[in-house]
Amino acid sequence: MSLPSPVCTCGDTNCPFNPVNHNQGCGPCILKNLSLREIPSCFFNLLDDHGIPHQYSFEDFAKLVLSQH
Ligand code: SF4
Repeated sequence: MSLPSPVCTCGDTNCPFNPVNHNQGCGPCILKNLSLREIPSCFFNLLDDHGIPHQYSFEDFAKLVLSQH
């Protein structure tokens, strides 16, 4: 177990890629997201999603951003 990243707001501490579960920082999370064409949860956490269900796809992230401008 490692210390959490000072910038990580991901609440899924069961995820093996969460920085609390290793000492490699954001790398494993970003690698997973890149391979799935997804956006890391820390980016979603910057948005007010109003409880709107979403996946972590590029498309869902773009929709949430555009819905707030
Ligand atoms: S990229 Fe992943 S590990 Fe890094 S801060 Fe964002 S959610 Fe956390």
